Amino acid sequence: MGMEESSENREKLVFLETFGCQMNDNDSERMLGILKGINFARTDDPNCADLILINTCTVRDKAEQKVYSTLGRYKELKRGRPGLIIGIAGCVAQQQGEKLLKRAPHLDMVFGPHNVHKLRELLLEADSGRRVVATALTEAIDAGEYGAAPEASGEKAFVSIMRGCNNFCSYCIVPYTRGREVSRLSADIISEIEGLCAKGVKEVTLLGQNVNSYSTSGGGDVSFPALLGMVCSLKGLLRVRFMTSHPKDIGAELIELFGAEKKLCRHLHLPVQSGSDRILEKMGRGYTVSEYLSKIERIKALYPDMAITTDIIAGFPGETAEDFEATMALVRRARFDNIFAFMYSLRPGTAAASFDGQLSVEVRTRRLQALLDEQRVITLEKNRDLIGRTVEVLVEGPSRGDASRMMGKTQCNRIVNIACPPGLDVLQGSIMEAVVTDASPNTLSAEAKTGNH
Ligand code: SF4
Repeated sequence: MGMEESSENREKLVFLETFGCQMNDNDSERMLGILKGINFARTDDPNCADLILINTCTVRDKAEQKVYSTLGRYKELKRGRPGLIIGIAGCVAQQQGEKLLKRAPHLDMVFGPHNVHKLRELLLEADSGRRVVATALTEAIDAGEYGAAPEASGEKAFVSIMRGCNNFCSYCIVPYTRGREVSRLSADIISEIEGLCAKGVKEVTLLGQNVNSYSTSGGGDVSFPALLGMVCSLKGLLRVRFMTSHPKDIGAELIELFGAEKKLCRHLHLPVQSGSDRILEKMGRGYTVSEYLSKIERIKALYPDMAITTDIIAGFPGETAEDFEATMALVRRARFDNIFAFMYSLRPGTAAASFDGQLSVEVRTRRLQALLDEQRVITLEKNRDLIGRTVEVLVEGPSRGDASRMMGKTQCNRIVNIACPPGLDVLQGSIMEAVVTDASPNTLSAEAKTGNH
């Protein structure tokens, strides 16, 4: 690729593919931020890229094989252009390290989520012909680590405030690939968000694998509610969200904040994973179904408009028909606004991988489908309950497929398409009120009520 070419000011191109969760999306944005600083622009075409990066995820089945097949697609490209640099980042990189280099001779760089900030140095090494691996897990977040702000496009941005997890749920690989919980200092987080606001960002989502365990014990300097309060007080910012929360760390102070901070969106994503205490114990989740329910019922009693969404795993090892029925009963009782249901898939290296009672793919598929069918009806009912109500919408731009309407999201993260009267000047990134006129399971239709403010 010739990094020296940067002295000739030739803009170089990076093709970046991202798999997995929002933490990975955020890491990719950070990579793009670093690369922008050394004269890279993003391209959608790997054929003309100087650098190809694949940011990988281990959560889905056969993650490793998928990485090799993705890598295989670029083998010929590399043969034709030896200067092309190819790198693997993310959780598969963290887990496989050196092994990836051995199996894929055309691969130049392997780096895990803790080493994203070293991308510039890694590129220089790769450019000088060395094949590099960076998978060291660090125990503190270096001040310079988040020095390159993520690339912001549009009115919304994600800001990573901590990383790692101490929980070791028996099915999850995250504590092994992303290490123990480490929190960033509040001043670093605030200055990153101020930078994003200066670029026009109106809504930030604070991210962490276990975001509400952000704390002074993990390297932060304030409590999570205090940090949220600081973020909400930033001028120019209209909305604040956070994800993903662990039910055991939802405390009274955090619940009160939803009433006190108007910018804090009335939406809580709180993974429950199962409706059976027996399965929750095998998962190592640290709460019972009734503890979970009493938390969300208290929140809904205080804030009836609060949307609560959750994650559920269908077909965990040893899950009986009764356990699964308990999960269905929980879904009916909790009436979540939405659920993200996943079929259990075995992760080598986790405790659950060696549990007895691994279920067939047919049973897991059937249970997953039953959950999705049940929730689809509830989601539609809950969306229909909003017909005639006024919702506050952050405008993201014209609706896809119908440019005469504007599209945005409610505080509870529902997609709304809004019919606007001619002459109403609706700006992207502004908040407007709209009256809901119709609802489907996935979207709301509405009419503009007022102008922007
Ligand atoms: S809380 Fe459990 S599921 Fe979530 S990241 Fe930590 S170990 Fe994984």
